[in-house]
Amino acid sequence: MFRNFKTVPFVVFGRGCFDQLNDIVKKQRKATDTFMIFMVDDVFTDSHLREKISLQDQDHLIWINVDDEPKTTYVDQLTRSVHQLSDDLPVGVIGIGGGSTMDLAKAVSLMLTNPGSSADYQGWDLIKNPAIYHVGIPTLSGTGAEVSRTTVLAGPEKKLGINSDHTVFDQIVLDPELISGAPFEQRFYTGMDCYIHCVESLNGTYLNTFSKSYGEKAITLCREVFLDGGPESDDKLMIASYFGGMSIAYSQVGICHALSYGLSFVLGLHHGIGNCIVFDQLEKYYPEEVGEFRQMVEKHNINLPKGIMAGVKENGIEKMIDITLVLEPLMENALGPDWKKIMTRDRIREIYEKL
Ligand code: NAD
Ligand code: ZN
Repeated sequence: MFRNFKTVPFVVFGRGCFDQLNDIVKKQRKATDTFMIFMVDDVFTDSHLREKISLQDQDHLIWINVDDEPKTTYVDQLTRSVHQLSDDLPVGVIGIGGGSTMDLAKAVSLMLTNPGSSADYQGWDLIKNPAIYHVGIPTLSGTGAEVSRTTVLAGPEKKLGINSDHTVFDQIVLDPELISGAPFEQRFYTGMDCYIHCVESLNGTYLNTFSKSYGEKAITLCREVFLDGGPESDDKLMIASYFGGMSIAYSQVGICHALSYGLSFVLGLHHGIGNCIVFDQLEKYYPEEVGEFRQMVEKHNINLPKGIMAGVKENGIEKMIDITLVLEPLMENALGPDWKKIMTRDRIREIYEKL
């Protein structure tokens, strides 16, 4: 069966296009007493971006804290606080921030129309009712969260996305000016998430012409951004993130992401940096690309953390291995149907112990 997947129906791209936001969402405001929720990364509390967000009369701005990556408990708390604002539902949820804030906006837009806890919907196609109209506006580029059909959440038992067609944004606003102020290390780690998406997609067994075409263009853009630099780097990185997301939509990620999920569940490590730490040890599987990645690390003077497993106890390593092994499609994409013979518990442990 070929996958029939939903994509974002409306995309605006260009420097300064954020200023068109009110015009773009206007058609959702059918009556005068409707309101929208702006969920904005709290790093922008005193920023120029805050001044550019113009709230209409009944709109509410909620500052979002992403010190920890999104949890189902936070989604549920945010959803409750939106319900408490009014007896009516908002007509839009607008997420402004990196992958974490965009994922939280997706999740809240889903949970406003679906009963229970967000933890009940971690999995594939469990969402019953369409979400509130939702808009994604990245301020960091690389995760591809702006185009994906998932919102990655850490729940009580697992780290797993709410994957559904309803999760996909109705509109995205890609304004490269919004990513220009990101701290350089964070920009690098999130950008490498995109590079690794491309590497894992392009080297995977699930690859087809659709994902190959997006992946090849995205990895070329990543190389231009992180090896050459230049004045249009932010524009290129923003499009690389989008194309990288489109590439994995029709293929899958691989070993690096499977191991990185285990790291982030047990150690709370953020996605981009976790991927970089793991990818650095995957020379055996992606030899050329790990070499190229190291050139990028060196060029940008990034100090990749080492020895992160030092304090991890035996049950922590076991949990990491369990989480990695649950991610079967990722391993199958990377190593083929016989992956279990190659990626044994001992082999996974060996890689973790090198980190
Ligand atoms: P992030 O959203 O977690 O943000 C990282 C840090 O950068 C935060 O401190 C944030 O406040 C700060 N920040 C964001 N934009 C900034 C800016 N312009 N200037 C200064 N600081 C800024 O980082 P991320 O790497 O974009 O996202 C990681 C998250 O995305 C993880 O939770 C991961 O699970 C998720 N993810 C989702 C998907 C998906 O398809 N839904 C894919 C990959 C990753
Ligand atoms: Zn990723």
